[in-house]
Amino acid sequence: MASDATELLALDRAFVWHPYDSAVAPLPTYAVESARGVRLRLSGGDELVDGMASWWAAIHGYGVPELNRALTEQAARLSHVMLGGLTHEPVVRLCARLVQLAPEPLTRVFMSDSGSVAVEVAIKMALQYWRGRGEPEKAKLLALRGGYHGDTLGAMSVCDPVTGMHSLFRSVLPAQYFAEPPPVGFREPWDDGAAAGFEATLARHAHELAAVIFEPVVQGAGGMRFHSPEFVRRARELCDQHGVLLILDEIATGFGRTGRLFACEHAAIAPDVLCVGKALTGGVMSLAATLCTEEVARGVCAAAPHALMHGPTFMGNPLACAVALASIDLLLASPWRERVARIEAQLERELSPCRDLPGVADVRVLGAIGVVELRRAVDMRAVVPAFVERGAWVRPFGKLVYTMPPFVIDEADLKVVTRAIFEVVREHSARGEAPSASP
Ligand code: PMP
Repeated sequence: MASDATELLALDRAFVWHPYDSAVAPLPTYAVESARGVRLRLSGGDELVDGMASWWAAIHGYGVPELNRALTEQAARLSHVMLGGLTHEPVVRLCARLVQLAPEPLTRVFMSDSGSVAVEVAIKMALQYWRGRGEPEKAKLLALRGGYHGDTLGAMSVCDPVTGMHSLFRSVLPAQYFAEPPPVGFREPWDDGAAAGFEATLARHAHELAAVIFEPVVQGAGGMRFHSPEFVRRARELCDQHGVLLILDEIATGFGRTGRLFACEHAAIAPDVLCVGKALTGGVMSLAATLCTEEVARGVCAAAPHALMHGPTFMGNPLACAVALASIDLLLASPWRERVARIEAQLERELSPCRDLPGVADVRVLGAIGVVELRRAVDMRAVVPAFVERGAWVRPFGKLVYTMPPFVIDEADLKVVTRAIFEVVREHSARGEAPSASP
């Protein structure tokens, strides 16, 4: 094992392929030696305040004793066993807990190991449901432009066709339908006419649609845009009216990020199928889940082969489930609503001045999410080191400089992040490069 940072980074460059990156000319990369609280400690000894929560996941920060204890205690009993024909306490307790927390009437839980797979499972559930109901022609999805649902092929097929790079994979991607998200922001007044385009597409294709899928309230990696909860409510109504299932992807928004435990609570509705992941384990282990109603579960199992046709090897991994249970307990025992509200107020206050900078198109904040949208894509090779120099870990993509910090971040540390965003945007927003891929 390499001992110093330079050697480690040389080996990294030789062997490790990073997400959305070139193997031959990779973007700047930093070696993290350890992490505690909201601080990432780099191999050279520098510390960065984490503004990304490791892509929405590390809501409690790093090195959390309760989560580490759950992991080691579970490892001493049972690290893994196949879920085919066998079960164990962590998976049983976690599924029961998720049903208890999720909006009624979601009653069944299918575990998987990543958000993308949870979305694949949701799509399979929808297709098998309509087969079970004797309507196999209902096999297409309607998604929103600007959405992001993962990188596997089925999940990609419902991502925004442009930022989701459909042109690259056209020959193997199933063709789906898309509608514009409503042009009404989270706090803006709603009128049902704002969903007219969505409604027209849904009505026109209902006979061939298995489900509508979107991220409620916050579209994440497809563009970081926020829409009115009233749209979510209206989409529920329209899906019922037209006999189409509603899949909500709360992989990014679930577990408090928008100020509610699940973002669909802003609209006081429940989907037929719900996907969660990311913060489910507080960012310690890879784990995701797809929940559905009893009606969907019975439909899926009504026709041959009378089973949901999916089964990952590491499904319901006991270590991940034990950590997820500990993470949920920790979240619910914490003043998370107050924390998220405080982060929201501080982001609003401290990112607002970015509105006056040249090159800034929009600044928006919701819950523990702050976004500065630029007019041009940032130059990642210049911007990421500029954040690191300022002691903040912020990794933009395309035109979006954004932060979704751990909920435990305090005012002074969040200030490090917001100040860095202001200064880096001020210095770099006038320059730019071609749009890059999104996480
Ligand atoms: N859906 C949403 C809304 C996401 O934000 C993500 C991850 N960025 C995914 C699905 C895919 O999850 P994963 O990366 O764990 O496969």
